Amino acid sequence: MKSPIPKSHPRAQSLYIREKLVAAFDDGLVAKEGLMAHGRGEAFDYLLGEKTARSAKKATKAAAFMLMHAQNPVISVNGNVAGLCPKEIVQLAKATEAKIEVNLFYSSEERKRKIHRVLKKNGAVQILGLNKKNSIRISGLDSARRIVDVNGIYSADVVLVPLEDGDRTQALKNAGKKVITFDLNPLSRTAQTADITIVDNIVRGIRNLILECRKNQSKVKFDNKKNLSDAILEIRDNLTRKANHA
Ligand code: ATP
Ligand code: MG
Repeated sequence: MKSPIPKSHPRAQSLYIREKLVAAFDDGLVAKEGLMAHGRGEAFDYLLGEKTARSAKKATKAAAFMLMHAQNPVISVNGNVAGLCPKEIVQLAKATEAKIEVNLFYSSEERKRKIHRVLKKNGAVQILGLNKKNSIRISGLDSARRIVDVNGIYSADVVLVPLEDGDRTQALKNAGKKVITFDLNPLSRTAQTADITIVDNIVRGIRNLILECRKNQSKVKFDNKKNLSDAILEIRDNLTRKANHA
């Protein structure tokens, strides 16, 4: 489909991201509910002006430091994440020596296998979350998401859970994990519960995080609540600018 919007325009990038997610849905990677979660993300991305805000850059630096200094970091992958940025997930895992674990809200063995295949195709060496023999439950959750890999999320000190549901983030926190997330909605329960929330589209944000991990990071003073307030103010400023030009 030929878009009338120039390729470099943020809107064109959002449309490209949407098409990528729809293709992943057609390929059986993304659940129906994943399409809706994406729509919610798009709405917040629109309010942010579809660009990486200053607060997101700050959170990215803090996240890179935490990941690079973790003992056993794990990246949790769901259908949307696998559909949007499989190559970057593998690059990030390599840069941080993190494990990759597939963990789905709406579990299905077939979808898991498809996600596994896509990650492998993009260079992943080891992918956890598929071998039932290594499954163990974390408490505080009533769905399939409580099943985690004993060598992965279960024993992790730091978990990156992008585009995640609030209950699960809370359960990981209760289990004593440090949690990092990408979430475009600064008001979501996940955004509010995580230790570090990068309020950015994962497609833009993960590239910045990989670059940051490859640098020599220095510890930054970071307060997630304060940074989330800054993200909300950035949305407000963007809306004010738009209103003044309307
Ligand atoms: P919560 O359970 O944390 O309160 P929610 O129920 O509103 O959140 P979920 O579907 O559980 O939403 O989680 C998906 C989250 O991912 C949403 O907050 C959505 O804004 C965000 N999101 C969707 N697509 C992207 C994306 N491409 N990049 C970053 N965040 C995204
Ligand atoms: Mg939710």
